[in-house]
Amino acid sequence: MDQRENGMTCHSKEQNGLMSKSIEKKDLFVEYSTERRTGCYLSRFQGTCLILGNLIILCTAVALVAFVKKERIIYGSVSEPICSCDSPKPYTNVTLDYSYVRNQTSITILSENLAEEENSTLSENRHEEEEGSKEVPEEKVIPKETPWREIRLSRDLMPLLYEIHLKVDLENLTYRGHVNMTLKCTKNTRFVIFHISHIFLNKTSVKITDVDTQKTFGILKQFRFIKNQFWVIELSSELSEGTLYKVSVGYRGNLHEDLRGIYLSKYVTPEGETRRLAATQLQSTDARKTFPCMDEPDMKAKFRLTLTHQEEYEALSNTPRISETLENGWKTVEFDTTPVMSTYLLAIVISDFTHRETVLDNKFDIRVWSQPNKINQTEYAISMVVQCYHFFTEYFNITDVLNKTDHVAVPDFSGGAMENWGLVLYRETALLYEQGVSSSENKLMVTLIVAHEIAHTWFGNMVTMRWWDDLWLNEGFASLLMYFAMDAIYPDWNVFTLSVVAKEVFPVMVKDAMTTSHPVSTPIATPDDIAESFDSISYSKGMAILRMLLGFVGWEDFQKGLRLYVNKFKFRNAEMDELWDTFTEAVNYKYDIKSTMNTWTRQMGFPVVTMQADRDCYNLTQERFLYLDSMNTSQSSDEEYKWVVPFTYITEDESETQLVWMNNTSATIPRTIDSWILANYEYTGFYRVNYEVSMWRKLANQLNRNHTIFPEANRAGLIGDSFNLARAKLLDYDVALHMTTYLKYERGYAPWVAFLDSVEYIKSSISKSGAYVLLQKYLLDLVAPVFDSIEMSVEGNLPERFLRQTILKLACDVGYKKAVAYARRMFYLWKDQGMTLPSDYSSVIYMVGVREGGVEEWDYVWNKSQSTNVAVEREMLMEALGQSQKPWLLWRYANWIFDSSRIRMQDVRLVISYLSKRPLGRMITLHLLMTKWDKLNEQFGFDNFLLRETIAEVTQFVNSEFEYKQLATLFKDKPPKVAKKQTQTSLALIRANINWMNENYDVITEWLRNHVVGML
Ligand SMILES: [Zn+2]
Repeated sequence: MDQRENGMTCHSKEQNGLMSKSIEKKDLFVEYSTERRTGCYLSRFQGTCLILGNLIILCTAVALVAFVKKERIIYGSVSEPICSCDSPKPYTNVTLDYSYVRNQTSITILSENLAEEENSTLSENRHEEEEGSKEVPEEKVIPKETPWREIRLSRDLMPLLYEIHLKVDLENLTYRGHVNMTLKCTKNTRFVIFHISHIFLNKTSVKITDVDTQKTFGILKQFRFIKNQFWVIELSSELSEGTLYKVSVGYRGNLHEDLRGIYLSKYVTPEGETRRLAATQLQSTDARKTFPCMDEPDMKAKFRLTLTHQEEYEALSNTPRISETLENGWKTVEFDTTPVMSTYLLAIVISDFTHRETVLDNKFDIRVWSQPNKINQTEYAISMVVQCYHFFTEYFNITDVLNKTDHVAVPDFSGGAMENWGLVLYRETALLYEQGVSSSENKLMVTLIVAHEIAHTWFGNMVTMRWWDDLWLNEGFASLLMYFAMDAIYPDWNVFTLSVVAKEVFPVMVKDAMTTSHPVSTPIATPDDIAESFDSISYSKGMAILRMLLGFVGWEDFQKGLRLYVNKFKFRNAEMDELWDTFTEAVNYKYDIKSTMNTWTRQMGFPVVTMQADRDCYNLTQERFLYLDSMNTSQSSDEEYKWVVPFTYITEDESETQLVWMNNTSATIPRTIDSWILANYEYTGFYRVNYEVSMWRKLANQLNRNHTIFPEANRAGLIGDSFNLARAKLLDYDVALHMTTYLKYERGYAPWVAFLDSVEYIKSSISKSGAYVLLQKYLLDLVAPVFDSIEMSVEGNLPERFLRQTILKLACDVGYKKAVAYARRMFYLWKDQGMTLPSDYSSVIYMVGVREGGVEEWDYVWNKSQSTNVAVEREMLMEALGQSQKPWLLWRYANWIFDSSRIRMQDVRLVISYLSKRPLGRMITLHLLMTKWDKLNEQFGFDNFLLRETIAEVTQFVNSEFEYKQLATLFKDKPPKVAKKQTQTSLALIRANINWMNENYDVITEWLRNHVVGML
């Protein structure tokens, strides 16, 4: 999956009210009762004895729980059934597991399920033997063995085949299914346990038979164990090792707009008609929301899917369809059996979309799908899909085992895209590209994401991580391999410098330099942990350390290692160690890849290598690079934060790259007296370098003399390193600022991005103080000559176009008159005369138009954002709206996040981030957070990701004692239901921001005063 952006659709107030009520009871509830509905098989005497016995157990349990104070028991009368047909229970008496609530699952749905369960006891479903969310106390089931208590499933039964028949009703928004699981018994057992979540299982449909003898097994007991999202079946006799069994289960569920499992999405046609579609997102743990299954990545199986749906739609799944029948307005489609794969890779789309198609020479069928009126935006995507398939087939020397691939732009999608084998799903901005409207940035994103998802075919789908703690293997490799494909397709894009260094490595180094980071490979237990592991550490740091590995093993051995690995583990799962062993084999045992890479994967953070002169050599020492000056992290590391560092460098006299290994220790290199040394050549290493001040000066002088002697990645690196070292108090800001004076000659994109990212922190921190005007003038002095030297043309390769866009934006931001006049003129030509804007500059032009304009301009841009059918243009327009200089307009905009008719749930986080980009917008969002905190929690409190990102975004540059106190009080008095950790992180960062101001403000002001011409 790529670029996960969670989002949830809006639910009714009643549901949210119910939700908050449920969450308040955050302790573990245990419900206790006899189960009348399943039929009583005890005599009255036995029953009485059991009740008495249970009472004793209950009292003991109460005492015990009171003692450990971990669980709270709420119990009704023991003679009362859980789900009485004549007396529904209040919600507080429904079993609600804490971890279930904590899960960033849509809690509204949980609440709704509970409500529905109640209704079902009163409605036409009252006699159905369905189970909603009930748990039978384990004491009653079996006193000795409790395999359902383990978070992970046992491997006593392994799935081989799922035969699923799913009927999806897009009219009534329900689905009904039946699944036959063929399981192989690997160890005698009396339990059959599988995952289910948010679906209603029909108990009477559950049947277990011996595949050979057709013997059916007696079921002693079956129940849902919510904590682990399990359905547990205890049999009257044992299943035997080596035998095949079939488990049949019927179930039903409801389609919601929750972007998880099988869900509802919608779009509006140009005629204004709303159309529905069903799509899926099963990664990580939502296959169980679509059908009962053993939902762990190494429990791979084949899938044979049959779908029934209303005849006006067309269904897609991983494999080609093999039959289609029509009956009474319903279409039934049977799909070919899938390859052996993990449950999270199954996918379904039922829609009225249209497609564009290409068939390759080897009969491989490629189709790209979209809403009918957006099909002209799929041309670029299909050409990329074709090229990426060619590239990866050759790179791995293995063709895809499927004979088709469908790529679909889904109107509502939680992440960027999902690599489901044979049916890749994307959010629209990640797949659709409109020549002349979409920007170069958008083209880069589509290229990257398509390449990333296709790379997963080999790395992720064919070979899968054994468990989610190695998620980074899937994502890190796909994130690196996508650049390989891009580099092959667009050799002049210089992608490794452009994107790897500037867009991925530098940003993730900022995140990884905090004590709140985590190791790339991290222990994962609950669905919550899994969801949280989809972050930039898995993707970008994973990619960066693999790029470092590529740097020292070389392209040839890297490819050899990958080919070996995919061939060895095809259709299976592998762990990190198995990958390192394969690479060690590929490099002919020249390096011990495992011990080297373990220092990078098993501990968080990265080193700063300090270079100090000592007579005829430089001493290289390493220490963990951290922003906060405390090393008091709670996480321990076996390596004690030392790394095996491949230290590379060139010198003024020797342009050949030298490599020195720092094996968890220090090292030395020869000293050059008068000339410079440039370390971390091409910035392939995931570490920062700190030189002596005299060396920094030599490097700065070289930049001013002739900067092109250094590779572009290193020019960016010198700026990025120096500013980050200054932020970590390892270097003075005046040294860092000195590295930027050469920028007026710089025409490379990466150094400018590194500079703007680095200076952003200073800019935002001092935005409410006097030095701000000095900084703006300094930036103006740097950017003006560059702006004057470039034409505002739309020609050239991607890095050239990126540079022009960046320079125009900066020039407008700092008020360079020529640039602002250009943008303003273009804005009104667009607004008043309908002129088409150059797509690379349209984003800046909209911003300047909104910034310089009033209500009329704002409303015009808003209306345009609502009427365009190009998703990426809508995002650009919505971003521009956050740039207004009129507080009342920003306040109105910020409040629209609560109105789902104006701002879709999936866009709430984006709007917050747009508003937080400029000082005025940041003040508005901070005010919103403080004054509408209750409402934020009420409406978005079920979405861990959204709330976490909102808090982080809004508070990131707060640096006054007054605001710190206000936020601390707010978070203490009204802690959020989710994302509590983020409130602590944010407070710690604000404290660090305050300290930063105290320590650095004067130095920076002084330096700027000395380097800005013509200011008071
Ligand atoms: Zn991915």
